[in-house]
Amino acid sequence: IFNKDLGQHILKNPLVVNGIVDKAGIKPSDTVLEVGPGTGNLTVRILEQAKKVVACEMDPRLAAELTKRVQSTPYQRKLEILHGDVIKKDLPHFDLCISNTPYQISSPLVFKLLLHRPFFRSALLMFQREFAMRLVAPPGDKLYCRLSVNVQLYAKVTHVMKVGRNNFKPPPKVESSVVRLEPYNPPPPVDFAEWDGLMRIVFSRKNKTLMGNFKTTPVLTMLEQNYKTYCAANDLMVDDSLDIKAKVLELLQSVDMAEARANKLSIDDFLKLLYTFNQAGLHFC
Ligand code: SAM
Repeated sequence: IFNKDLGQHILKNPLVVNGIVDKAGIKPSDTVLEVGPGTGNLTVRILEQAKKVVACEMDPRLAAELTKRVQSTPYQRKLEILHGDVIKKDLPHFDLCISNTPYQISSPLVFKLLLHRPFFRSALLMFQREFAMRLVAPPGDKLYCRLSVNVQLYAKVTHVMKVGRNNFKPPPKVESSVVRLEPYNPPPPVDFAEWDGLMRIVFSRKNKTLMGNFKTTPVLTMLEQNYKTYCAANDLMVDDSLDIKAKVLELLQSVDMAEARANKLSIDDFLKLLYTFNQAGLHFC
């Protein structure tokens, strides 16, 4: 009866349901966005504490079941159901997000939430354990990757609790974890396209040194091209004698990172690196 393609794994353990709702820190004045309410096990608990719940559900059958579940209860008027794919929807203002997330949309959901404005206070999200551990991984951890830094750039991410697969019906193949995202407001003043361009290079082979990743022909060609475009766009003289490889090495050495490896560097290190390159007219997009 449950649709695997939609990641339908219903939380059947009330202790876990209550645990998630307790950890969310709902205030009576809060509007809560719930992604994928399913049959509503979390929803009814959230409704007890929040001012309003906006629940986005893709499966019309489950949306109907949830509507029925709150019908002629005091919670009916506090619940608004959005039908359809949360990734494609314009989301209303909300204070908190709570979701036992359909795992197929983990990554797009995280980025959709981080780009959402106005800012929300926090999001409590259930993910596959490995995805969750990537989100929270610190520098040096073997799961530390581009996803970790892209998310940690915009939000404080913490691991809240582990949830075993047998708390779900049907049980998913892997274990799960709940994480909390608290967006930094204001966000760091970085151009994400620049940041992402740099991260793609330094994490392309994350156990290599930064110079090792920078000195490939495609990377150097791209940097040189961007340099010329940047000069042209800003009425600057192109330095024709520029040896791009030597310049890159010089910049990396100036911040003592030529021999560093991305998997050991912090967000602050990467911000410093990006700033150094940009100051020298080198751009990643
Ligand atoms: N919240 C319920 C619970 O904890 O028991 C169900 C969680 S189940 C893991 C995920 C739910 O998200 C399912 O109800 C599924 O139909 C819904 N869903 C899947 N993809 C979706 C999408 N793109 N947008 C909105 N809902 C989606």
